[in-house]
Amino acid sequence: MFVGERMIGYTCTKCSKFYKMWSNYLKHKCEPPQFKCTLCPFAAFKAFILQAHQAEQHNFKVPTSSSS
Ligand SMILES: [Zn+2]
Ligand SMILES: [Zn+2]
Repeated sequence: MFVGERMIGYTCTKCSKFYKMWSNYLKHKCEPPQFKCTLCPFAAFKAFILQAHQAEQHNFKVPTSSSS
């Protein structure tokens, strides 16, 4: 993302939050990533991002159904 006159909002590069108002963007507090990789320090804000990371970096198979 880049800030230009055509931008309709601002997306935080740290927490991916989107704001239309620059002032709100400045005021917001970044939330820590909720989905942490168990194999490396990687952390993601979305589950599918973590799953994609693990699939790529750790050759994880994404489970279709969870059964302990
Ligand atoms: Zn943020
Ligand atoms: Zn990882």
